[in-house]
Amino acid sequence: MTRKRHPAVFVGHEIYRQAAYGTLHPLAIPRVEAVVDLCTALGWFRPGEYRVSPRATEAELARFHDPAYVAALRDASHSGCVEREVRERHGIGTMENPLFPGVFERAATSVGGSIRAAGLAMEGRIAFHPAGGTHHGRPDRASGFCYFNDPAFALLALLDAGLERVVYIDLDAHHGDAVQDAFAADPRVHTISIHEAGRWPHTGAADDTGEGRALNLPVPRGFHDAELVLLMDDVVLPLGRRLRPEAVVLTCGGDALAGDPLAAMALSNAALWDAIERAAALAPAAVVLGGGGYNPWTLTRYWSGLWARLAGHAIPATLPENARAILARLACDLVDEEDMKPEWLTTVADAPDAAPVRPAVRKLRDEALARTGLSGVAA
Ligand SMILES: [Zn+2]
Repeated sequence: MTRKRHPAVFVGHEIYRQAAYGTLHPLAIPRVEAVVDLCTALGWFRPGEYRVSPRATEAELARFHDPAYVAALRDASHSGCVEREVRERHGIGTMENPLFPGVFERAATSVGGSIRAAGLAMEGRIAFHPAGGTHHGRPDRASGFCYFNDPAFALLALLDAGLERVVYIDLDAHHGDAVQDAFAADPRVHTISIHEAGRWPHTGAADDTGEGRALNLPVPRGFHDAELVLLMDDVVLPLGRRLRPEAVVLTCGGDALAGDPLAAMALSNAALWDAIERAAALAPAAVVLGGGGYNPWTLTRYWSGLWARLAGHAIPATLPENARAILARLACDLVDEEDMKPEWLTTVADAPDAAPVRPAVRKLRDEALARTGLSGVAA
């Protein structure tokens, strides 16, 4: 059962409409702006539900990031070039983390949005910030398309507000490595990550418990709906309840969906919405962030429908013409035309998937139960 909670709030900014990441990068696709457009077309913003993200100041950024790195990204962003030494030290101006006009402002806005989302969550709102979820950003360097680490700032804002038990749950296809590492030594934070095994950054093995408060569930390729339900029902939610969190922060990258070009998981958006709603209901305060996601159709449908579910808007079975036009305008070099599914252009919710749970996922569940001492609880 989803607990009754205060109204949801969407944190966004027009800066995400600006061209970013150049032309050849997987993130050079419409993402947050397409979500805002689709939600607007469907009438999914009531008055007061959309909030404009502030931009984090350099002083705020220095709460987690090395000031030398913050200054280097600012200078490189504004000049458009970077010295080799700076590129090597801070990982910026590379194929992975390219420089583009406005990169500093964009990244600082995603941090400001996550800090604001945490504040709104503390007011009892469920705060959705799809531009957040840059879970690979390191204190002194960019990593995995992430310049800063906005989830870390959401967690810090909750801790600064006096919370002593916060749970971070990462449902992106990639391990939430930099968030786990950032809080590994902090007894107030537990991290849980479900991610595809064998993917970059090649961390987050099942036996990686950080300093004892991290749970990693590396899942096989083709991870699908019934398997997510199993891990949520038997491991993630029981552990979450045992921890009695005062707040949860969720990273909800869309690369865990079927059809993503950079991962091989096979979840439906509806299964993820259910999992997120149930995880968010673990605590009286919840921050829901975005993350990866490189198929603009599946991503836009996922995050738009997630907002509808969080805010209590009805999702139509088929989309009206004005909404279809938004999905029809999207484009992506990484998705072949023959792989396009017709329903990506006409619906928001994926059809349910009925594949049975595979033995490898049951084994992962059993090992996690043993590791967390939950066996008795789930039985
Ligand atoms: Zn990812």
